[in-house]
Amino acid sequence: MSDAKQTKIDLSNLKAGGFIKERGKDLFTVRLRVPGGRMSISRLKKIAEVADRFGGEFVHLSVRQSIELININFRDFDAVVEELGESSQKVASCGARVRVPVACGGCEYNPNGLIDTQKSALEVDEKLFGTPTGHHKFKVAFAGCPFDCPKSATNDIGFQGAVYPELDISACISCGLCAKNCVPKAIVMGDDNKPVFSNDPCIWCGDCVKVCPTGAWSEKRRGYTARIGGKWGRNPLVGTLFATFLPEGQVVPFISSVLEWYKSKAEGKGRVRLGDTIIAEGPDSLLGHLRQQFPESIVNATIPPQVIVTQIGISK
Ligand code: SF4
Ligand code: SF4
Ligand code: SF4
Repeated sequence: MSDAKQTKIDLSNLKAGGFIKERGKDLFTVRLRVPGGRMSISRLKKIAEVADRFGGEFVHLSVRQSIELININFRDFDAVVEELGESSQKVASCGARVRVPVACGGCEYNPNGLIDTQKSALEVDEKLFGTPTGHHKFKVAFAGCPFDCPKSATNDIGFQGAVYPELDISACISCGLCAKNCVPKAIVMGDDNKPVFSNDPCIWCGDCVKVCPTGAWSEKRRGYTARIGGKWGRNPLVGTLFATFLPEGQVVPFISSVLEWYKSKAEGKGRVRLGDTIIAEGPDSLLGHLRQQFPESIVNATIPPQVIVTQIGISK
């Protein structure tokens, strides 16, 4: 156990996050960095070993996929960090900076997955984790498909894997499976017993491509949709659509561009989230900024982040 005066972790590091003061004297929760919620079994074993040696009776799995070591005495910080480092496990971060991205399992084993969310989460973690925003926290989430299990639209930027379908009517045998499986009813069977597609209800899930037995439906585009300006907490917002079919390779520059806009527009406004900044400035300002760099992916128009009212009720 190291002496308190010798510990290398100073107060500014504590504020930078990962070490969260608990109720008990000298005790902290140590939040671990788990991008995309995935880790090797060998690393998990090492974490269990460290938790057993330095922590309490249990660990906690945070809602953002972190493992949190509970009841760590601050005098053990150095030893904990050093031991975790043996399995390359790092400590996470809090405060006004880019947080650890969350992601669902993506496309490797999930039959619904349309895109490699794990790869994107790792890339964002590696290149942008801890970037100061100057204003408030900044959360990113990746969903492998529009089912959106990670609730990506409640993040500052939420990405969803998406496929735009294209029909080769000459290959259609009129089985009706595409219309039957298109839950939003973007495909209906016409009078000639051939599918009729409507663009607006389509959520880009790619189910028609998967079920068509002849390959009449195929992918025209694949990439991420990006919804921006979401958050949860005391005053929730749902982010709205700014980009469609953004290529995987453009995710990091896209986030960097949003951060650049956020920093400049929130200048002098203190602790304000991205979504509130978009509402104050109007979404066209951010759309115009992004369009310069990502002309192929930015939508023609969008709406501001949507307020979710959670405080309305009838008192007894
Ligand atoms: S969002 Fe889609 S790909 Fe990801 S876990 Fe849910 S169903 Fe699977
Ligand atoms: S699933 Fe394919 S073959 Fe069947 S109706 Fe649709 S397009 Fe035609
Ligand atoms: S991508 Fe999904 S929503 Fe769009 S037409 Fe195909 S099945 Fe329907």
